[in-house]
Parts: sequence; C-alpha cells; structure tokens
Amino acid sequence: MENKKYVYLFNEGNASMKNLLGGKGANLAEMTNLGIPVPAGFTISTEACIKYYEDGKVISSYIIDQIYASLKGIEEITGKKFGSVENPLLVSVRSGARVSMPGMMDTILNLGLNDDTVKGLAKLTGNERFAYDSYRRFIQMFSDVVKGIEKRKFEDILEDTKNAKGVEFDKDLDSSDLINIIKKFKELYRDEIGKDFPQEPEQQLIQSVTAVFDSWENPRAVVYRRLNDISGKWGTAVNVQSMVFGNMGETSGTGVAFTRNPATGEKSIFGEYLINAQGEDVVAGIRTPEPITKLKEDLPECYSEFMDIAQKLENHYKDMQDMEFTIEQGTLYFLQTRNGKRTAQSALKIAVDMVEEGLITKEEAILKVEPRQLDTLLHPNFHSEELKKATVIAKGLPASPGAACGKIYFTAEDAKRHHDEGEKVILVRLETSPEDIEGMAASEGILTIRGGMTSHAAVVARGMGICCVAGCGGLIIDESTKSLRSLNKVYKEGDYISLDGSTGNVYGESIKTVSPEISGYFEIFMEWADNIRYLKVRTNADTPRDAKQAIEFGAEGIGLCRTEHMFFDEDRISEVREMIVSKTEEQRRKALSKLLPRQKGDFIGIYEAMEDKPVTIRFLDPPLHEFLPTETEDIKNLAQDMGISFQELKDTIDSLHEFNPMMGHRGCRLTVSYPEIAEMQTRAIIEAAIDVKKRKGYNIVPEIMIPLVGEIKELKYVKDIVVKVADEIIQKENVDLKYKVGTMIEIPRAAITADEIAKEAEFFSFGTNDLTQMTFGFSRDDAGKFLNDYYEKKVYEFDPFEKLDQIGVGKLVEMSVELGKKTRPDIHLGICGEHGGDPSSVEFFHNVGLDYVSCSPFRVPVARLAAAQAQVKHPRSSLK
Ligand code: PEP
Ligand code: MG
Repeated sequence: MENKKYVYLFNEGNASMKNLLGGKGANLAEMTNLGIPVPAGFTISTEACIKYYEDGKVISSYIIDQIYASLKGIEEITGKKFGSVENPLLVSVRSGARVSMPGMMDTILNLGLNDDTVKGLAKLTGNERFAYDSYRRFIQMFSDVVKGIEKRKFEDILEDTKNAKGVEFDKDLDSSDLINIIKKFKELYRDEIGKDFPQEPEQQLIQSVTAVFDSWENPRAVVYRRLNDISGKWGTAVNVQSMVFGNMGETSGTGVAFTRNPATGEKSIFGEYLINAQGEDVVAGIRTPEPITKLKEDLPECYSEFMDIAQKLENHYKDMQDMEFTIEQGTLYFLQTRNGKRTAQSALKIAVDMVEEGLITKEEAILKVEPRQLDTLLHPNFHSEELKKATVIAKGLPASPGAACGKIYFTAEDAKRHHDEGEKVILVRLETSPEDIEGMAASEGILTIRGGMTSHAAVVARGMGICCVAGCGGLIIDESTKSLRSLNKVYKEGDYISLDGSTGNVYGESIKTVSPEISGYFEIFMEWADNIRYLKVRTNADTPRDAKQAIEFGAEGIGLCRTEHMFFDEDRISEVREMIVSKTEEQRRKALSKLLPRQKGDFIGIYEAMEDKPVTIRFLDPPLHEFLPTETEDIKNLAQDMGISFQELKDTIDSLHEFNPMMGHRGCRLTVSYPEIAEMQTRAIIEAAIDVKKRKGYNIVPEIMIPLVGEIKELKYVKDIVVKVADEIIQKENVDLKYKVGTMIEIPRAAITADEIAKEAEFFSFGTNDLTQMTFGFSRDDAGKFLNDYYEKKVYEFDPFEKLDQIGVGKLVEMSVELGKKTRPDIHLGICGEHGGDPSSVEFFHNVGLDYVSCSPFRVPVARLAAAQAQVKHPRSSLK
C-alpha cells in the first residue's frame, strides 16, 4: 500500500502547484481558498497520470481508493451523494495539464446520472425535462469522449426525433421524447460497444478518468505539444467537480469571459454567455451567445458579483484572466480561471498598461509576452491600394488578426497536403475541432462559418498567431461539392480568397500583402526588453536589403553573412558554378576575378547598411549539390561561358559528384584545396571596408569567419592566407583598419578541441545546424523524411534542428565555451544556427555564457524578447 498522495481536494491545493495539479486544478484550488464560489471538487494529480503510464495504463487501486475518499469529501461539502436517488451528486470530469491545451480532451458533464438517479434529479429539481435532457447529454458525451462513438450517430437520432415530431429545436422536445431518445442512445451504445451503458457512477468515473489519461497521448495532443514546446513527460491532471447547471431556466446561464479584450488588449470586460444553457453550448458555437455586458440587464446582481470577482482575480494573478462561469438559478459559480490567451497586439498592450497601472514590474511584464507571438506582428497586412479595389463577399468575427490570402481547402488534411506542396492555403470549415490542428497550423488563415470569439477556431488561431475569421454565417459550405457559396458566387476548392482577421472581412480574390510597420506598444515594450537583456542579438543577412530590414527589427549586427548565398540569384549563380567546376588554378582565378567585384560591391552595401555595427562575414561554404548545375540547358550555357565543350563540363560535374555533399568538399576544405578562394574573399572584405571607412567614416572591424573547421591546422592554414592578404592591403592603403579572424564551431571535433582552436580563433560562432547534423549523424536535408516516425513513436519530441538538443548538442556548446575561454578568456562567443531565433534555445545560450545570438531578420524581435526573459529568469551580470 503506497501512501503517496495523488488526489487533492480543491481546498488542499494552491496556484503554485501547477506542475502537480495542472493549471486548471491549481487555479480551482486557489479560487477556493480565495473564497470565490467554486463548486466543490478534487484534482487527480499529473503524477497519477505519469504513474498510469508507468504501470502499463492501469490506475492502481490505491489511487482509486484516494479518488473514492475525495468523492466522500465532495459529498460532505455538498450534502449530495454519488449514486443516490434522493439527492444525487453529479460531477464533471475535465483534463487539465500544466499548460492549457485547448481542446485536448472534451469535457464530460453530468456524470453520475443513470436510470435511477435521473429520476431523483427530476424530482429534486421539479423539472423532468431538464433531468432527462441532462442524462441524454451525458450518454452522448461519455460515449464520444470515453468510448469514441461518433457524435454524428447520436445527433442523427436527435434529428430524426425532431423531424418525426415536426419541430426544429432541441428545446421543443419534451421529457417523453427525451426518454425515447435515451432508450435509442443506450441501444446505440450497446450495438457499438457490445455492453450496456454503465450504470454504476463509480465505474463511469473511473472509465472517464482513464479516458482523460489516455487523451494525453492522442495524436492531436502530441501535435499540439510539439507546436507549443510542451513536454510529453508532464502528464495531465484530471479535475472532478460537482455539477452546477446553467440550463435550469431563465435565471440560469453559462459563459466565458476575459478581464481584458484578448484581441486588442483594451481594458474592458470581454465575453459571451447564454441563458439557459450548458457550457458546451457556448464553446461549440451552436447558439449565438450574447455579449457579457448584456448580463447586466438579464441578471444585474449576478453581473455585479461577476465583475467584482473578475477584478479580484485579475489583481490576484496580476494578469488578464480567462474565466468560465455558470449561474444556477441566480447563484453565480466560477468553474475556471486562467491567464487568458491573447494576440500579440493584445499581449503587448496589456503588459505595458499593467506596468503603467502599477500592477506589475517591467520584469514581470517581459515574462507576459510569448516571444514567438511577436512573429504575428511582423506578418504582412494587405496592400492598401489592392484592398481598396477588393470586394467583401462576407463578414465574420475578427477572431485573430492579420491578413491572409490563399487557396481554399475544406478539410484539415487537404489544407496540410497542399501546404506541404508549397501552396498558400486557407482552411475553410463549418467549425474547427482539435483534430484539425495540423491543418490549421499549415494555413495562412482560417475561416469558419459557425462559432463565436471563444470558439475553438478563434482560441487556437490566436494562440498560433494565425489570421482567423470565425462565425461567418453569410457564407455557405457545401461539403459534397467542396465549395463555398456567397450571395452571388461559388468558390471551389483551390480558388483564392483573402481574410482580414482584424476586421472579419472575407474577400473573394487574391490580395497582395505587405510588411507591417512596428510602433506604439511594441516599441515601448521592446525597449524595456532591450534594457533588460544581456545577450546581444545579431542577424543572419546576406544582402543589404535583409540587413536593413533586420536593423528595423532591432538587430545589433550581422552574425552571419553567408557569402555563397550572394550568388543564389539566377544571373549570378553561373559565376560561382564556374569557380566550382574550374579544373586548373588559372581557370579558377579567372572565375574568382569575376566574383571579386560582385562580392566587394555586396560588402560595401552591407557595411553601409550596418554603419558601425559589427559584421561577421563567412567564407564560401557551398554544399556542392546546391550549386552544381543539373539541367542540360544550364550546363550548356555554362560551358559556353567558360569556352569549353558541353561534354567536358558534364564530365567535370560528374567527377565532382559526392555521396554525401553535406559532409563533402565545402567550407574551409575548399580553401585548403584552393587557397585563391580565400585570397579573393579577403581582398573583397578588406577593400570594401576600407572604401566605406574612407567615404563614410564608419569604424568597421570586419569579422572574418572560417566555416567547417574541425582541426586547428585547417584554421591556421586559412587564417595565414587571410592575415597575409589583409595586412598587405591595409599597409598598401595606409589605413588603420582592424579585423578579426574567427571560426564557426559546427563540427563536433572542433567543439571537443575548442581549447586548441581558440589559439587561432578570436571568436567562435556556433553553427548549430551543422553541429546538430553531425552530432546526431543525420543529414539536415533528409531528416525531415523520417523525423515524423520519431515523433509518432515518441523517440523524439521535437525537431532538433528547430529547438536545440540541449542534452547532446548543447553539451558540446557548453564544453566549447569552457575550453575556448580557458585558452582565450576574452574570446567572443555567438551562435548563428537556426536555433538563434528559438526562444528555449536562446535561454540556453544565455545560460551557457554566449555573448550574442544571430537569427534571420524576422526572428530578431523574438530573440530580443527571449533574451530578456532569459535575463529575468537567470540574471547574468558579467562574463561567466
Ligand atoms: C550552421 O551550420 O549552423 C550554419 C549557420 O551554417 P550553414 O547553415 O550555412 O551551414
Ligand atoms: Mg554550417
């Protein structure tokens, strides 16, 4: 008999126990202790869920005993009894992970009803219709959520009954109709499951708890976790709470509300409710709810109590709250509160306002905005001229801001597939459900016909930062022909539409989008972040245009200029190709002489854009497969340019074929073979710097970065060339120009011998793309093909190319930092792999003592905020 505690009554927990009780459970406990009216209940801990999986998907008997004991606790508080006919206790069962995962599992309401207790409920409430309606809802929910019987089958029975009776709405069914429906529901259950619908409330409860635990590993939860950085190891808690009823007449109701506007951040209550309804009716978007302010007219006392508590909760949690409430015959209950999900605009406004209101500090404000969300602010808006000419075909709710244009698809699978094929897609659904999550994530925008501002589509899209127009009843979907009908036109699958998630407008055509302008709250907030953060943020930029864009986003320098990318353009690639396929030094020097002025011109543009900011330029690192021509036409043209025959060039290209080009003749290996490449690049870098310095007076200190070094002698060989050429030019020009030579640490051997490497390198920049590739031993180009199997089989939870593998690759980074500093205490340290824009990786780089991160221009604000958050969580005051 284990005596560990797995089940907690609400009055036994508090808000700090989120990891154990899940977010919902911890907040229900906190509200209970604050004296807020919360229906009695208990939470089965996340540890119980973890144990369930450890024990091979079995809930151990001592956990079951604790559940029963807590049930007794609720019975004592409520005076009701589980399974009693006279005064039945009914409960809801809901999942609640550490971090909220909307729609991971549906709620089960009215649990405890059976053929006997339903009669008790009818007698007790004096409302037979209500009791039988509750029972039929319970059978339907239990069958769907716990047993996976399709909802549709139950709805068909409901529909048939209404049709037979000639009525339109559920409310027109009386108790004898409902008794009939229940009979049919139970028959359906028996046909599907092969057993009778469970009558013992304890059995109903344990089966429901098991279903919640199982839901933690359902595919949509796994996908949601991967998209939101949530660990699969955390498990979910289960909340069991005594029922209160919002569907007991005109003085009852249920709703959801936010203390501030989740779309704009405006400081006024925002929410919706339905009179005489249960929670599922609001969320499902089946009936159109009333705005919360109307409650003031319907039930003024409840409204003012609600407003007082809402304010109390916001002050207590020092954050915007998202609350669920139910009013049962004039008595108000809170069923949930949590920090509300919000758009990036809203998050920034709320954070800034709350500091100005004196509710929180700047440091606390910094932690309130999810770095990835900033991305959404940087997303395009519609081109204003094109927008003027566009026709609005319908208007829905502005559920998640932004502008989106794409081809319409009507299922999540279709949207995802076409997205994977490179199309921009818009997912059009009657209403979304959690199964749609991958399709939603793949879409530019989401359009739903039903549902309010708190519907699944709205909440999830806002969280993802995807533009969404919800509840657009002016359009009709015809699923059989996969088409969307407006007043005067039919749009077929693959046709373009555009969505404005800030106004709710839907346009029946493609509208060009443009980059947004950043101002207002963003500026104020980011300035706070910049004042707090320790890490510098640079950008990966290869052109003056990207560099300028990155500066607008707050970049403090260039951490990686991939010089080979300067030749990706159609009209330039032939010059690099010529250099690559040269067979003699003479040929190569000739090709290089064509590259020199191009490179010099590009560097001048970049230095001018960056002014005095640091610029790291990396020597050519062209993986051969990305650069060699494969098309006959391209080979013909190049052969002509080079004055050689087609066959000769074709043979050379064939001879250059590599089995694994990612581990091939690239990076510094090219320069070891052909030192003239380093000569040319050094010349371009130094001459451009001298030119700009002389003309503009900027203090330019070029940082020359040698890629793919694994051995100190490789670095020394290339560095000697750089120093010789650079010093000669500087001497000849008679200018005072400093420059630095450093290396990327992207090969495990370089990391392991970083103390050696640091003898020659003035700086390290971690190339975590290659470092990940080579540490794992799988190709960055091919891993995508099998990583899905790894996620499905839970071998990996995340893509290590997106989020740094801190345990393995991170260990190499940490080791290099220590070794590098041992040799050269003032060595400058940065990272320029894709992980430089990933928030959790940025925190890691902060913690291991790097000086800067470098990422693509659009991720610069994300990195700035992530760096500030890292500093708030783990302050660094000086070099580690
Ligand atoms: C890296 O390997 O992390 C890197 C930045 O270089 P590239 O992606 O160009 O190989
Ligand atoms: Mg690399």
